[in-house]
Amino acid sequence: MTTKTLYPMIIDGEPVRTAREIEVINPATGEVFAAAARADEAVLDDAVAAAQRAFPAWAATPLSERASMMHELADSLEDRADEIAHLIVMEEGQTLAEAQGQAPVGVALLRYMADNVDYPPVVLRSDGDTRIVEHRRPLGAVASIAPWNVPIALLLAKLAPALFAGNTVVAKPAHTTPLSTCLLAAIWNEILPPGVFNVICDDHDLGDALTSHPGIAKIGFTGSTATGKTVMASAAGTLKRLTLELGGNDPALVLDDVDPVEAARRIFPVAMANAGQICLAAKRIFVPAGMYDEFCSELARLADATVLGDGLDPATTMGPLQNAAQYHKALEYLADAQASGTIIAGGEAPDGPGYFVRPTIVRDIPDSARLVREEQFCPVLPVLSYDDLDDAVERANSTEYGLGATVWGRDLDRAFAVAMRLEAGTVWVNEHMVFDYGATARGAKYSGLGGEFGQEGFDSYTQAYVVFQTSW
Ligand code: NAD
Repeated sequence: MTTKTLYPMIIDGEPVRTAREIEVINPATGEVFAAAARADEAVLDDAVAAAQRAFPAWAATPLSERASMMHELADSLEDRADEIAHLIVMEEGQTLAEAQGQAPVGVALLRYMADNVDYPPVVLRSDGDTRIVEHRRPLGAVASIAPWNVPIALLLAKLAPALFAGNTVVAKPAHTTPLSTCLLAAIWNEILPPGVFNVICDDHDLGDALTSHPGIAKIGFTGSTATGKTVMASAAGTLKRLTLELGGNDPALVLDDVDPVEAARRIFPVAMANAGQICLAAKRIFVPAGMYDEFCSELARLADATVLGDGLDPATTMGPLQNAAQYHKALEYLADAQASGTIIAGGEAPDGPGYFVRPTIVRDIPDSARLVREEQFCPVLPVLSYDDLDDAVERANSTEYGLGATVWGRDLDRAFAVAMRLEAGTVWVNEHMVFDYGATARGAKYSGLGGEFGQEGFDSYTQAYVVFQTSW
């Protein structure tokens, strides 16, 4: 008999329990600690039908009313932030401080939209008798699909604009991190009308049924590039609107006018955040040959000082990898680093339970190594030296990905000129992973399609239509 807590899905405002469950493992212990109810295709159809039924009334609710509801949703996130953060640590593995950062992303986004975003009619022409005006309306029932690495913040990035614009939602978390999404749905269904926000959980088996479902008008998806391509193909039959936020292999370019020790101290936390499992983490570091040794030594010192452990332990500065598949992938990258580069810190997965890998710094590794070419998504970081800045820019751009990039330089004009040459959706100069809801986050090349936030991101949850009118 099972004694673990079962988290129900929420459909049409009601908790849905099922005979089949998804067991959820705490990656710090490797033990199952809770379970989520598991949908099949019939349950998925129920969720889509509920979202479709709720759509007309929600779409007709005045924007000002939806805006006040966004503030209520934000209040509820603030009230339950601790509970949400603890559950994220248990299922995702990140440190409590990292998990505590997730709900506030949604709070700030909800309040930003409520206070700043509008979809005003745009007069394209008004002369004489003729008026041409572009309007926007919500799309219908939309799907929000989030990955396991940042389950709540990345879901909220889709959910909040979808709901605010008047759409209803069927959300689907990753199968290894379903619980925080179920909790969020339980909290928000105390505020939202039934059917406006539904959650289904799958065991990695309903993605295709959801993305090809004729009742779904749009997919907001964050995940790997490989799955993004599958989603695009699956959605083609019903010509769904798509926003795809996909993988990255972000370069960080250190210029020769900065202090290498200070640069290493600024780059290390953003490369190793969430044990390297962040889409926008710095994943390839390019450093001038003249400061390579000093930079690498400081990174190694920081890696050695990292305290691995359970995210709920306040002493922990890095948690485990989130799941067994990612852990085994990390072991492959460690083997690749051993074979093709020089490991100067870390390099091992400690014995004992949990999916732990020590932060690892790899130097003298060729650009052709797997660790450099692929998105490692783990705390194994390649550091590459360069002699010529033009060559470094070319190497940084020599990837199919184009999510983010950073440039670190004291001469701002030169750093900006380098930034302008990097092929990425977001480029930061002397800072990293700073977001502004007025700016669209998007991936270039294989890192995505469309974007989140900014007017483009908010508009992407609406259908534009143009009305031409003249007098009789
Ligand atoms: P994933 O692609 O394996 O899964 C993402 C989500 O898609 C999960 O909910 C999963 O259940 C679902 N899914 C799986 N197969 C599906 C299918 N056929 N149809 C529809 N949905 C399906 O990605 P992941 O391993 O969970 O996440 C890591 C990846 O996400 C990395 O590549 C990372 O860079 C990327 N990521 C990108 C961003 C961004 O903003 N661009 C942010 C975070 C993570």
